[in-house]
Amino acid sequence: MPENNVKDMSRRFINFITFIDLPIKKKFRLFSVGVLFWFVMLFVVTLAALLTVDKKTDTIVRDLIPQDRLAQKIARNIQSLNLDALELSRTSDIRSALHRIETSKARMEDISAFLSALQAGGRVNDYSRENGKLIETFTTSPVRGDLAGEKYVSEMTVLQGVLVKKFQAFTDQKMKNLPDTQQDNNRDNVKLKEYQQTLAEALALSNDYSANASHLYTENAGTINSTVTYTTTIVVVVLLIALVLLGIFTIWISRSIANPVKSIIEQIHALGTGDVDLSKKIAIHSKDEIGILSAEFNGLMESIHGMTTFKKVIEEDDTLADVYSRLGNVLREQVGIDEFLIYEIPTNQNKMSPVFPLVLSDNESFCSPDILDSSELCKAKKTGHAISSMVYPHICKQFQVEQGKEHYCIPMIIGGGTGGVVQLVFDRADPRYRDQHTIDQKVFKARQYVKESLSVIEAKRLMDTLRDSALKDSLTGLYNRRFLQECTENMVAGVMRRGKNIGLIMCDLDFFKQVNDVYGHNAGDAVLKETSGLIRSSVRTSDLVIRFGGEEFLVVLLDTNKDETMKVAEKIRESVQNAKFKVQDGVLKKTISLGVSEFPIDTQLFWQAIKYADVALYKAKETGRNKAIRFTEEMWTGEQF
Ligand code: GH3
Ligand code: MG
Ligand code: MG
Repeated sequence: MPENNVKDMSRRFINFITFIDLPIKKKFRLFSVGVLFWFVMLFVVTLAALLTVDKKTDTIVRDLIPQDRLAQKIARNIQSLNLDALELSRTSDIRSALHRIETSKARMEDISAFLSALQAGGRVNDYSRENGKLIETFTTSPVRGDLAGEKYVSEMTVLQGVLVKKFQAFTDQKMKNLPDTQQDNNRDNVKLKEYQQTLAEALALSNDYSANASHLYTENAGTINSTVTYTTTIVVVVLLIALVLLGIFTIWISRSIANPVKSIIEQIHALGTGDVDLSKKIAIHSKDEIGILSAEFNGLMESIHGMTTFKKVIEEDDTLADVYSRLGNVLREQVGIDEFLIYEIPTNQNKMSPVFPLVLSDNESFCSPDILDSSELCKAKKTGHAISSMVYPHICKQFQVEQGKEHYCIPMIIGGGTGGVVQLVFDRADPRYRDQHTIDQKVFKARQYVKESLSVIEAKRLMDTLRDSALKDSLTGLYNRRFLQECTENMVAGVMRRGKNIGLIMCDLDFFKQVNDVYGHNAGDAVLKETSGLIRSSVRTSDLVIRFGGEEFLVVLLDTNKDETMKVAEKIRESVQNAKFKVQDGVLKKTISLGVSEFPIDTQLFWQAIKYADVALYKAKETGRNKAIRFTEEMWTGEQF
């Protein structure tokens, strides 16, 4: 069990992530969302990389390069100041000394300007010291927020103050000693050294700062480089993953659509050529439209298969009753309809009778009992088309409207007329029948089965009619002598097994020829018909009345006790005697003579017993007619039967 659970869970998970059970439209929508997701991913990665690169480039171009350049310019000025100081210390010419002092002061101003440019940011113009021409101009950003920059600017500002003082001390000393350079060379030298030392400090500070800037520059350039490399790698990997996933999904989705459709096409194709195994099913892998299509197709195939086998089976059924009961079972089991009635309508008769299930009481019928004797009241029979209360409520007045019940009556069109009606009844209270679509499907299926059975029912009914015409007498509707011959064996065996007797009464109308002679042959026929009715109603329905000859009837009483037969014979005689036969302008009185024998009391041979009844009849005729005589042994003069 747990193994099954795990399997089921993993199958459900795979179905979930592959969208297999989603409708096709949703499947493609999600597929597009997937594609969009990968695009967005690529966009985000690329954008992030571009922003990083942009930021780093910005830092390099806007901050690091100008700041580095300024620091270098300051360093260069400091170096020049150092050279100026050396020159100044060596000169003895006052003009040259003054020029050097001026130049140095200008350089210090430049340094101040560069420092304030570093601090506040802005445009920097660098002019040549020789000819005053503009060397270059660039913009720098303030060092605010940049610790190294701020430190450099503040320390350099302090140093510059010191520098100005030291320079002043040095130049004052120098100017005092001019033009004698040798005079106080030592003291001069001390001031120079102090000034140079401060210059060296400032130079180191600037170089440090410049080195730091170029270090940052390299670092940022490295970051740009690695960002570009990483981004390229990520983009390529994402692109590859997206391509592989999209490829797998494309193949998966198209397969989950294409394969079942291919199978359906193959089955339809095979159906067209007749070379098809109807019980073969299409595998269902999904619950999407394709899954539904496959299930519907399988259902259709199953119906066709069921219907084909159904037809084969009923074709081989022996009786009409078998066919009706088979149809009824199919409606119940295959179609799933619980309440229904199959009515049979005999040709040229205004009757209809339930044949499946055999109705026992009026309660079990859904229609007024009037339709049984007058089938014209049945709307389906009368119109020849299906009558549904679901299309038009109370369409048929004969349907006993019960709370929430609907009917659908299908006429069985046989030989141009309605040979029967199949009535389907749906109880709206039943949850299975709340949905109209379900009912429609069941009705459709039921109609197919009824349609399939029609030709078989027609053939069986035709066969029954033919059989009837061969075994029944058309004038009186009674069985003929041939029928008796056919059923003798079974009948005799049954009676013998039960230890009972068969009573035989041979009947012959007295002076019947006269009826023909006086009133004509048609009147004779009418009297014969009426007599057959009189005999029928004098015996039980299980007894047989056979038109044995022209105006001779043989009554076969089954399972009689001794001497019972004479009473029945007497009853027949009396009913004929009391009857008034209608002829032309009046009525006619007739009598009948009867001979009685009993099998196996009189003889072990059934047909000899019939002969004995005939002998007794002859005796009745001989002895005055209008009487019933029991056969006795003395009556038999013949050697053998
Ligand atoms: P009996 O009392 O001796 O029986 O006198 P009967 O005149 O009835 O004599 P019988 O039984 O020999 O007569 C049979 C007559 O029945 C002969 C025939 O014309 C007539 N018959 C036989 N079959 C039919 C039939 O189908 N229709 C009509 N109208 N007459 C028939
Ligand atoms: Mg007669
Ligand atoms: Mg006769």
